Amino acid sequence: MMNLDTTIADYLDRGQLPFLPTDHFIAGAWSPPASGERMESFDPGRAAPFHAVAAGDEEDVERAVSAASSAQRAWGRTKPSARGAILVEAARLLKAEADRFAFVESLDSGKPLQEALGDVSGAARAFEYYGACANAIEGATFPLGPDYLGYSIPEPVGVTAHIIPWNYPLSTAARGIAPALAAGCTVVAKPAETTPLTMLMLAELLSRAGLPDGVCNVVTGTGPAAGAPLVADRRVRHVTFTGSVPTGISVMTAAARNVATVVLELGGKSPLVVLADADLGAAAEGAIGAIFENAGQICSAGSRLIVERGVHDDLVARIAEKARALAMGHGLTRPTLGPLNSEAHLGRVAAKVDAAGARGLTPLLGGRAATDPATGKGWFFEATIFDDVAATDPLVTDEIFGPVLTVQVAEDADHALELANGTDYALVAGIYTTNFAAAHRLAQEIDAGQVFVNEYFAGGIEVPFGGNRQSGFGREKGFAAMRNYMRVKSVAARIA
Ligand code: NAD
Repeated sequence: MMNLDTTIADYLDRGQLPFLPTDHFIAGAWSPPASGERMESFDPGRAAPFHAVAAGDEEDVERAVSAASSAQRAWGRTKPSARGAILVEAARLLKAEADRFAFVESLDSGKPLQEALGDVSGAARAFEYYGACANAIEGATFPLGPDYLGYSIPEPVGVTAHIIPWNYPLSTAARGIAPALAAGCTVVAKPAETTPLTMLMLAELLSRAGLPDGVCNVVTGTGPAAGAPLVADRRVRHVTFTGSVPTGISVMTAAARNVATVVLELGGKSPLVVLADADLGAAAEGAIGAIFENAGQICSAGSRLIVERGVHDDLVARIAEKARALAMGHGLTRPTLGPLNSEAHLGRVAAKVDAAGARGLTPLLGGRAATDPATGKGWFFEATIFDDVAATDPLVTDEIFGPVLTVQVAEDADHALELANGTDYALVAGIYTTNFAAAHRLAQEIDAGQVFVNEYFAGGIEVPFGGNRQSGFGREKGFAAMRNYMRVKSVAARIA
């Protein structure tokens, strides 16, 4: 059992690391890349490499998809309760090894350790929940009358590909892979190039939990070299993708050529609406978490505060005061604001904020790239707020995926609704009000896949999640996600 504080001190003081995976995980074993090539993993809090993993290519993908195809029939025919028991055991192991997973997740992604610990417990919960769902798979009977028997058999769709982003590497992986395994599908996962480690560790953990060889495989590598051949493989029957809109479109195009299904969880520009009668203390607290957790690198971040004019000054002052108090630091030191995941992403965020400056907008707070005050290193961006921004400004319409909040002023609830629905995205929305009827009227009218009332990010693995329009389609989480991985076979038999 690892001692978390000692491991952190060993790394921060002496650069020593516990065992970290370096190879693909294929057919139940570590597997070196065919090309022999490696790619570096960076610590975003120090802007320095700390490890290297396999740079996968189509040869590695071919081996992984072959392993998944070979394992498919037996896994699909395994009793659902036996599949569920393996998932529940994986949840138990994840909880027991939470410190190790959180340490690696924080180091690889940059996120604060306390958030990484939350992600690990969320991932464990996903395995627990879908372990139970395996027992709830049922078909139907069809009323054909006494001379026929009509019934359905739910079947696993087959080999599934999971393309995983860098902002929530472990929890995004778990929310896709757990229902796929519960439904009897095999898996080939391709984690993001900057955060490959916890997915590799998860595959090895699943193996220890009893998952047969070949049922869950991982190939690391870049999107073009490893992701593209995976989603184009004819044996892959479903792709679960989380990431950017352009990559989502190319993944969907590749899957369409094979008539494979996809779920796309893309970006967002989600509104957080605060009506004049809201509890402003709760709304300010909610807004801080909504945009500064994980340094704003959240598809469902509440990046647009829409507030009724009467409480605008009070609420913005409260949020700015809390934002000023956020402390930047290396993820492993448990800061309240961690670094961005990569130098390239820091460049993207800074460019969008600089472009706003060039248009004449001045932030109320923040607005600049920064470093860890303790070391002078790392890829940080200040907590940033732009007040009273026009609905058509790119700061409001374009996803920034960083710690940048825009404020829009609404004259009344109807105007707030119009502003809330004013972008091409429709992922989630937050509503703060003490008026029960107003809350649920807005919840009906706002275009989003999920609405939070009086607590941004309320919910859990039980609640379906996903977007509309440019935010994608299909739902993950909840029992709804099981349907991504199952198909219905209907049987009609004459019995008289
Ligand atoms: P991306 O969409 O390019 O990468 C996401 C995943 O797709 C990675 O695993 C990547 O390797 C893989 N990928 C890339 N090209 C591929 C291809 N042709 N075929 C198959 N897989 C491929 O995202 P990014 O470049 O890392 O980030 C850019 C922007 O994407 C961010 O600024 C943000 O707006 C958005 N993003 C959104 C989410 C989300 O949760 N919705 C997550 C990460 C990034």
